Amino acid sequence: MENARDKKILLVALGGNALIRKGQQGSIEQQFANLKLPIKQIAELSRDYRIIITHGNGPQVGNLLLQQECNAEVPKLPLEILVAQTQGQIGYMIESTLDSEFMASGASITQNLVSLISYVVVDEKDPAFQQPVKPIGPIYTPEEAATAPFPTRKTAKGYRRVVASPEPVTIVEKREISNLINMDFIVICCGGGGIPVVREGRTFSGVDAVIDKDLASAKLAEEVGVDIFLIATDVKGAALNFGKADQKFLRSMTLAEADRNLGEGHFPPGSMAPKVEAAMRFIRAGGMRAVIASIDDINRGVRGQAGTEIIRSSF
Ligand code: ADP
Ligand code: MG
Repeated sequence: MENARDKKILLVALGGNALIRKGQQGSIEQQFANLKLPIKQIAELSRDYRIIITHGNGPQVGNLLLQQECNAEVPKLPLEILVAQTQGQIGYMIESTLDSEFMASGASITQNLVSLISYVVVDEKDPAFQQPVKPIGPIYTPEEAATAPFPTRKTAKGYRRVVASPEPVTIVEKREISNLINMDFIVICCGGGGIPVVREGRTFSGVDAVIDKDLASAKLAEEVGVDIFLIATDVKGAALNFGKADQKFLRSMTLAEADRNLGEGHFPPGSMAPKVEAAMRFIRAGGMRAVIASIDDINRGVRGQAGTEIIRSSF
């Protein structure tokens, strides 16, 4: 393709499980091995699309928190710094895997790749700050939880640190990201939902929070004018009655159906609900196609052969 601008823009949001599959310990070897299949598909798609890759960081940021717990000699780092660290480490892993994939495919011209440390603005008055609900990091005893210097909550696994998960307001680097994809760079950005910052006049400062990566990706998709938004996860799409005998994966849902299914509680908060919500926001904002598909089916999801597509209406 002569001009990058002739290609449609595809945003792929990779779930944390693209690197660490459920039940795995998540060694670096495992993470690199898991990345191969999704990245191979994205490399193929880059021939026909301008590509943006976003990613989760749940397991990785949890591990960094645990590592901090093990060493009292070095100062503890605030969450926003840990999010920045995961953007660096995961960005590196995605970028180097993509690079190897292009080399292996014998591509004659080198594909430009970049991973970008990205900030996402949140509103300090967001009610989410009054009600931290997102559990992260290690499990504590009730005694440890009672004296911890941060809020904790009893979860199914035990007491865990909870942080606020505010709404993404705007992606700070949206113009840079647009410019880079227009020059046919593959851009890896908004890792872990982005580094949450509040704006104080002309400066930004980091806050203790974790933005949902699906909602941050939807905001980015809207701000950059993405054509296709694909959320890649570890199930083949959104299902009704998930995990029950009458479970039914959907190939498509209209906005009205998605609203109704959300209301009926088919999609739990923190996992499938933000994906459906993100896809709905993107379509409502004028996006062309939004698909939730398996990380093994990225290619087929983009071609409309797999996953759950959120559509404006059925006629
Ligand atoms: P990711 O790391 O990709 O964001 P999540 O664990 O946050 O992954 O969300 C995907 C998970 O959502 C699936 O593994 C599945 O267990 C869960 N899930 C809950 N409800 C549903 C549903 N109705 N349809 C499909 N998956 C669901
Ligand atoms: Mg998730």
